[in-house]
Amino acid sequence: MLPTARVPDLPPLREVIAAHGLSASKALGQNFLFDEQLLTRIAAIPGDLQDRAVLEIGPGPGGLTRALLRAGARVTAIEMDRRCLPALAELGEAFPDQLRVIEGDALSIDHGELMGEPFAVVANLPYNVGTALFTRWLGGEKWPPQWTSLTLMFQLEVAQRIVSQPGSSAYGRLAVLGQWRSTAKLAMKVHRSAFTPPPKVMSAIVHVTPGKAPEGVRAKLLERLTEAAFGQRRKMLRQSLKSLPGAVEMLEQVGIDATRRAETLSVDEFVQLARALEQRS
Ligand code: SAM
Repeated sequence: MLPTARVPDLPPLREVIAAHGLSASKALGQNFLFDEQLLTRIAAIPGDLQDRAVLEIGPGPGGLTRALLRAGARVTAIEMDRRCLPALAELGEAFPDQLRVIEGDALSIDHGELMGEPFAVVANLPYNVGTALFTRWLGGEKWPPQWTSLTLMFQLEVAQRIVSQPGSSAYGRLAVLGQWRSTAKLAMKVHRSAFTPPPKVMSAIVHVTPGKAPEGVRAKLLERLTEAAFGQRRKMLRQSLKSLPGAVEMLEQVGIDATRRAETLSVDEFVQLARALEQRS
């Protein structure tokens, strides 16, 4: 067990940035958070972190990292920008045995192997990396996954797509992926002015917890189904599903009208259709 009450004094984040010359790099999608109250609220989203293993992707100068460490987490942080490593090393010294920093690209690291135990994920990432990792974390066949929750900052528009419901224009592949065997909630909106430099758009944090996987459905097949259905979202299913052998015939079998469009189908209906296709093959 880690001690609970020891919270070292740390210099303000702006001083850390200045001391280490960490100007934000656009190429690395760097928009830093400095408001420690906000960072504390974000670190509270996954619940009690005392002595829990947390994987943080993209710690940058360590704003969110320090909030996680103060909450008592054992943090493994993957950062691609080596300029940030000295600042993170100082943070590690302030919280002995609580922080491990890995220099590298989070997209090319096996997170399960790295962590070796169940872990919560917390990340404030550039848009493209966040979506790629989200798809990977939610898309595997192994379920329940090794991660116990995902707390991820996205552009507001992407966050809304993940939590959206049928019938809305935001509803699509990300919603089905995020909801068919998980619960996805929009935990907090974050104003663009909270970041340095401020991005063009608003952001939001999505919190995902794994649930029970419906039986008899592979993630891969469901993904192919939603890819076909939403690939031509304005078309009726009898047209958009033509590219997936057997899918149009299966619609009738599971009681889905072939003249409906993808965005009207509930997550459950996608699951039923995928299950029927699995049974057929
Ligand atoms: N967590 C810090 C904060 O909230 O202030 C920094 C957030 S900044 C939006 C994103 C961070 O992710 C940057 O430090 C960037 O260098 C890092 N990053 C970008 N792509 C990455 C990748 N593929 N793997 C690991 N880190 C990455």
